[in-house]
Amino acid sequence: MSRLARLDDVLVSRDGWLDCRLSGFRERDESGAEKFGLHLQVSGRLGLRCQRCLGEVGFECAIDSRLLLMPPGVPSSEWPEDELEADDYDAIPANREMALLELVEEEVLLALPVVPRHAECRFPADVGAEEEESEPSPFAALAGLKKH
Ligand SMILES: [Zn+2]
Repeated sequence: MSRLARLDDVLVSRDGWLDCRLSGFRERDESGAEKFGLHLQVSGRLGLRCQRCLGEVGFECAIDSRLLLMPPGVPSSEWPEDELEADDYDAIPANREMALLELVEEEVLLALPVVPRHAECRFPADVGAEEEESEPSPFAALAGLKKH
């Protein structure tokens, strides 16, 4: 995890873990054309910063992505978007060498909640406000003086 710098930036602690499995697949579509892809599965648990109380909130990571390898040199604007969407694939350019850690990191970052937070918690400011409320207000003290 310490090698995933961009992910490390959003983590509260390094106590989390990730288990990654990557396998290749090859299949034929209806027209008989061969497709090549990668099947990436990532499970794990990460400690993110709750955007409400700023404490740690656990995130269960469960990624099951099928990445279709597109021939190198084909611009992404020419990838068959309709087909990719229908088959629930993501497309990535195929290269002879691929940075797998970066690929895993990218997928994990995409899977993270945009605004991580506990189902129930409070703003740190709310906690402070409550404490202030329990203190006698200066106006209440003045009102008390008036009576005498
Ligand atoms: Zn929280």
